[in-house]
Amino acid sequence: MFDDIPTVTLPSGLSIPSLGIGTWNMGEQPNEETAEIASIRKAIELGMTVVDTAEMYADGRSENVVGKAIADIREQVFLVSKVYPFNASAQGTIDACERSLKRIGTDRLDLYLLHWRGSHPLEETVSAFEKLKADGKITNWGVSNFDTDDMEELFSFTDGKNCAVNQVLYNLSRRGPEYDLLPWCQSHGVPLMAYSPIEQGRLVKNHELIRIAKAYQATPAQVALAFLLDRDGVIAIPKSASPERVTENRGATDLDISDEDWAALDAAFPPPAQKVPLEML
Ligand code: NDP
Repeated sequence: MFDDIPTVTLPSGLSIPSLGIGTWNMGEQPNEETAEIASIRKAIELGMTVVDTAEMYADGRSENVVGKAIADIREQVFLVSKVYPFNASAQGTIDACERSLKRIGTDRLDLYLLHWRGSHPLEETVSAFEKLKADGKITNWGVSNFDTDDMEELFSFTDGKNCAVNQVLYNLSRRGPEYDLLPWCQSHGVPLMAYSPIEQGRLVKNHELIRIAKAYQATPAQVALAFLLDRDGVIAIPKSASPERVTENRGATDLDISDEDWAALDAAFPPPAQKVPLEML
């Protein structure tokens, strides 16, 4: 029905799909839980098996929703969660991971991220991640909202080079990472996971995106995602609590955008001409 989803290879050698699903804001409204679970399951059914959550989202209730959605299909999923920076001490990271595992109802995370940099020494968090890995509680660890200088610092530690992913704000309207962070990640073999890939829904209202999408009988969200899928080493995790929109987002793989339209997208959303400090949502 759809073209295959491109894959991205982690430093461990494991290949994962470059399209998944985010879950920020899931778990906030009990009456939306059925649709949220159906959306996560639809994504997995369609091969978007990277499921991203965090202890922060809805104070852990997003992890509860993810747990319900994947209970009988855990092995099909590449499960990602994140530790709050203020929990990311040597023991705090381990305790936070245990709580996430409990809320999700699983015995391991496939990827555990430091949500953003905080006051606990980075090396301490890395050591805790390595301990969790050795204990089989996580398979990979990574970081989020790390700019190039943060990645350099991380890689100055011996175990820092085990970082599997950097998850950052990256989409057509936030192309700053293309200046140096994305090339840095590509040259060091660290996939970049693009969060808010459709700018929290705002990109679908962009006139140029609407115009280009129409030419392909596609939607603006699909073009925004196709832009990310076209880049080496990039994974996009659009969130939707609607199975129909999840299916729409999956269709982003089937767009074959012409050179002329890529140029039109560059004109509407210019790539950075200089360093842009990493933005955060
Ligand atoms: P997204 O760019 O994924 O946009 C999500 C919004 O767009 C929702 O309101 C959704 O509504 C809507 N939407 C989804 N698909 C479509 C579509 N095809 N057409 C129109 N509207 C659509 O934003 P997020 O901020 O949620 O980012 C994705 C994920 O990245 C998060 O859920 C989270 O997992 C992660 N993230 C990580 C951060 C970090 O600091 N590490 C920060 C922010 C996000 P609806 O649900 O109603 O479909």
